[in-house]
Amino acid sequence: RGAVDPYASADDTAVEAALRPGHLADFEGQPRVSAQLGLVLAAARQRGTTPDHVLLSGPPGLGKTTLAMIIAAEMGVPLRISSGPAIQHAGDLAAILSGLVEGEVFFLDEIHRMSKPAEEMLYLAMEDYRVDVVVGKGPGATAIPIEIPQFTLVGATTRAGLLPGPLRDRFGMTAQLEYYAPEALEHIVQRSSRVLDVPVEVDAGAEIARRSRGTPRIANRLLRRVRDYAQVHGDGIVDRRIARAALDLYEVDELGLDRLDRGVLDALCRRFNGGPVGLSTLAIAVGEEPDTVEEVAEPFLVRLGFIMRTPRGRVATRAGFAHLGLSGPGEENG
Ligand code: ADP
Repeated sequence: RGAVDPYASADDTAVEAALRPGHLADFEGQPRVSAQLGLVLAAARQRGTTPDHVLLSGPPGLGKTTLAMIIAAEMGVPLRISSGPAIQHAGDLAAILSGLVEGEVFFLDEIHRMSKPAEEMLYLAMEDYRVDVVVGKGPGATAIPIEIPQFTLVGATTRAGLLPGPLRDRFGMTAQLEYYAPEALEHIVQRSSRVLDVPVEVDAGAEIARRSRGTPRIANRLLRRVRDYAQVHGDGIVDRRIARAALDLYEVDELGLDRLDRGVLDALCRRFNGGPVGLSTLAIAVGEEPDTVEEVAEPFLVRLGFIMRTPRGRVATRAGFAHLGLSGPGEENG
């Protein structure tokens, strides 16, 4: 999807590695999470133990992977990365866990998408640093307990509510990442501009931050698109005019809405007269997958107060109509 997709594209991955802050002190914009995590890590260091398991929840692109890397760096231990969908069999998990080194941080992204048997194996591993490996099939099958090294699990999920209670309860610390304030994103843009060696004027950085939907990943991506524009159409320096022109070219508007967001809002207001309308009907109207509409466009439109999700379907608000220059449902629209 377009420039404001919160999920990483292949093109993001390499650059993001360079743009990740390496220490907690450089991880800006989530002061509460930083303070809580800082305490957990300092206490573990003092006691000479591995930190408690940490659950990070929040929308994509807000820094969950980055925090896992920071935890490993701050503790001076290696990091192993995997994800729920990659672990379909309990055996996959047993292989990873038994291969960890003492104290290692194990980052498990999309932890809510793990298979049930793997999840049950994880309970035991988190609590007792042990896995039961089943050998053989049928009546002759036996469970062989295997000790695994002490490790810190850092689980990530888009919504903590998706996790079964018993799994959630096994985390010593749960942190909810929030969308970033524009000022924090401005700092992140300025920091990234120094890493990428692109001069970005202050008001241009503010413009990029404002249109980044509270999401560092999007801010970093928009910065790169703006940099391209400055290089090709200017002298390489990003000023406000260049930033605006580039963002307009990528159809990211003043509020960070892109073509899909506006399409959804427009269909809801004009075609369905403000709703209520069901997700699948709305998705067909904009020619997108329901999942994309639900996970990418809607959360942001809800956050802006432009639409509401009700039990009867999606409904446009007065503010939503106003954003399109319309007066409201059932009224004479100009
Ligand atoms: P998630 O795992 O939540 O999807 P990531 O940790 O991969 O998000 O972060 C996406 C990008 O955003 C990374 O390139 C990272 O550099 C940047 N980023 C995230 N949080 C911050 C932050 N607090 N400060 C600076 N950059 C950040």
